[in-house]
Amino acid sequence: MPIKSRIRTVPHYPHQGIMFRDITTLLKDPVGLRTTINEIASRYKSIRIDKVAGIESRGFIVGSPVAYELGTGFVPIRKRGKLPVETVGRDYQLEYGVDRIEMHVDAIQKGERVLLVDDLIATGGTAEAAVKLIEDMGGIVVECCFVIDLPDIGGRARLEKHGHKVFALCEFEGD
Ligand code: AMP
Repeated sequence: MPIKSRIRTVPHYPHQGIMFRDITTLLKDPVGLRTTINEIASRYKSIRIDKVAGIESRGFIVGSPVAYELGTGFVPIRKRGKLPVETVGRDYQLEYGVDRIEMHVDAIQKGERVLLVDDLIATGGTAEAAVKLIEDMGGIVVECCFVIDLPDIGGRARLEKHGHKVFALCEFEGD
């Protein structure tokens, strides 16, 4: 398990009861980093992808080298207020309160086939908002791709229920 075994679990971070899945131990390891990027890129090599969209901030770290490998462009989906020109945004529910992700209006053209990338899917709220944002711009989400799935929290099922394809390199049971 070259990937899962290199992910560190930090109990009670950032809150009591959360098992934080820390990918910095995977990223700092040359075999871990290379295997992660190669496994994702090889899955999409023979499929038409026009853009890779990464969700701030760990989705940038994983998504950019995947885009490079696939020979596509990279689009950052950022937290509220970080992008310098006109944006489109989507609000999504957090455990306490609401957050917002944004993308430049000119980031994705109608009909472009987009691979969505983030480090981890938990409730799927962030990814669902990102999918809607891409679709708002006329993009087609080919698949939502993660390093880690927490299946017991239900994000994958939530996205699949809405007809979206989900792929993850590894799973951690529980939360
Ligand atoms: P969600 O919207 O609930 O699917 O949460 C996904 C986002 O929150 C991702 O961008 C993750 O980086 C982060 N996240 C949620 N839960 C965890 C966890 N247990 N460990 C590390 N990151 C997490």
